[in-house]
Amino acid sequence: MTGLTRIGGNVLSGVALDRAAHRRTDAAWLQTRLDDPATRFLAIWRQSAVIRLGPEPRAVIHYRETLDGLLDARAEPTLLGIDADQGEEGAAHFVVDLSHVAADDLLARSPGGELLDLRDSVQIVPGSDSALIAYARALTYWHRRHRFCGACGAPAEPREAGHQRRCTREECGTVHFPRTDTAVITLVHDGDECLLCRQSRWPPGMHSTLAGFLEPGESLEECVAREIGEESGIVIGDVRYHSSQPWPFPGTLMVGFMAQALSREIAVDETELEYAHWYRRRDLLDRRDSDEFRLPGRYSISRRLIEDWLAGYIPP
Ligand SMILES: [Zn+2]
Repeated sequence: MTGLTRIGGNVLSGVALDRAAHRRTDAAWLQTRLDDPATRFLAIWRQSAVIRLGPEPRAVIHYRETLDGLLDARAEPTLLGIDADQGEEGAAHFVVDLSHVAADDLLARSPGGELLDLRDSVQIVPGSDSALIAYARALTYWHRRHRFCGACGAPAEPREAGHQRRCTREECGTVHFPRTDTAVITLVHDGDECLLCRQSRWPPGMHSTLAGFLEPGESLEECVAREIGEESGIVIGDVRYHSSQPWPFPGTLMVGFMAQALSREIAVDETELEYAHWYRRRDLLDRRDSDEFRLPGRYSISRRLIEDWLAGYIPP
């Protein structure tokens, strides 16, 4: 078993904050916390966060003082939560979107820091930092793409400490909520073999499990069966839920399953996949870390599905 398997949630989940949803409408409390020199700010610049490199890399946390002059309305501070272990008095954490600031200005306020994408920083910072960045990044991405009301086109403004946007046109007033798209990702197995695929746009040698987005009017199990059928031609039964993972690239929840194959003959959809093959457990164990045959990063749910299956685990 690897450290990622069976116990606990997936990487990118597990934000160590009390989200304090009841405080999101408390304007006085929010202003006090925004003015508090102890309040912590995580800056997102486009899709990146500032990481302090060195022997123990960490996400850089800013304070009012270090972001002096930048904490205006354009930064759209959004409440992430308060320190979970300190009750109501715990330090508040906000994400601020500083995409409009010159990168050099932000880095000058972050000694030793560099802007890294989450796909890179997740490999070097502690899991609690990655979860916080994943949460913050998903929120800022949503805000950036919902400046205007989808119903009438008028500007929409943040509400509820950044957990909603509301249309500013009085007759409309539509409230918009942060959007998470649902995708299923499935390890299909049959005895001593599992089904992996390859897309031509992936890095050389990369292989993974099959995945696809949920459609309206569809259950998760139906989506699994449809996606596997469309992409590989394999018929499946006995779909079992494994675990889920926030996947903020840019705003998805990955819902992971294992499914028993009921057929063997592969017929790939060539617009989606380069190929799909059955792989024997023994061969994968021998090849999984070689240069010519690669598996997804260890932080991904797809890797966890594969590693758990290799270790003999199928959800009950
Ligand atoms: Zn509107």
